[in-house]
Amino acid sequence: MNEEYRNDGPRRVGQVKEITSLANPIIKDIKALSLKKTRDETKSFMAEGLKLVIDALDLGWTIRTLIYSKGAKGKPLVEKVAARTVAAGGLVLEVSEKVMASVTRRENPQMVAGVFEQRWKSLKVVRPSGSETWVALDRVRDPGNLGTIIRTADAAGASGVILVGDCTDPFSLETVRATMGSLFAVPLVKTTPADFLRWKKECGARLVATHLAGAVDYRTIDYRSKPVVLMMGNEQSGLPDDMAGAADALARIPQVGRADSLNLAVATGVMLFEVRRHLLTLDGPK
Ligand code: SAM
Repeated sequence: MNEEYRNDGPRRVGQVKEITSLANPIIKDIKALSLKKTRDETKSFMAEGLKLVIDALDLGWTIRTLIYSKGAKGKPLVEKVAARTVAAGGLVLEVSEKVMASVTRRENPQMVAGVFEQRWKSLKVVRPSGSETWVALDRVRDPGNLGTIIRTADAAGASGVILVGDCTDPFSLETVRATMGSLFAVPLVKTTPADFLRWKKECGARLVATHLAGAVDYRTIDYRSKPVVLMMGNEQSGLPDDMAGAADALARIPQVGRADSLNLAVATGVMLFEVRRHLLTLDGPK
């Protein structure tokens, strides 16, 4: 058998490597993915759960490392995913429950996790057409909000999410968890406010921005005649003037009660299902 030796012992190339020590350098590297700096440098991230890992592979994402806990050993689906990982040139780790809990930072961890390559789409190649809807988020800060928005964008059939300015990282563990797998199905773009405004001028879509001072009831806007870019503001400060000024319509969701505004992810959900109302049926997209 082909064997490669490292300072942490023999490794069977293309086979499963067993790890029980938290001090193992491979485990330390995976744990370091909790830091944005490490995710940026390695252009990778971790996602948990067998179904999610299978979905990601089916959607063509590149897996670097598959990690499963001893209890999952021999399960046919896990074996299959391990074989796919090896075939893709990835590493397969069989780890103790303790190591799995530490890597995923959970007391009751999933049995399976994967380290994947990050994937970004360039704004230059985004050309909304037909009945497409894109969601643009201005400086979204909360990982849970971003994850919920990606999940909702997927459910509503949006074509992708554009992160404008200094946004929270979509590949953080918290955001990935909140997307419930939709991260792998929704293209992500990141850009600067200046590049976004330049792109807006030539992209051919209608920019509908939501604003608490918006004069138009969101239910009265024409979402059918052009592709739509739905723009949502920052959790604390809302949408800056230059973004609001570039919009073709400033939409407001009427509210009663004491709350000043809706939570960002809730407002995005309300808007997305209105923008795409004419396209959604219980039998699937039209
Ligand atoms: N203090 C902020 C402000 O003055 O805009 C509140 C921001 S709100 C929590 C976050 C974002 O959700 C807003 O920028 C807007 O995009 C959207 N939003 C929340 N409630 C809304 C409403 N009733 N109508 C339109 N957009 C709303």
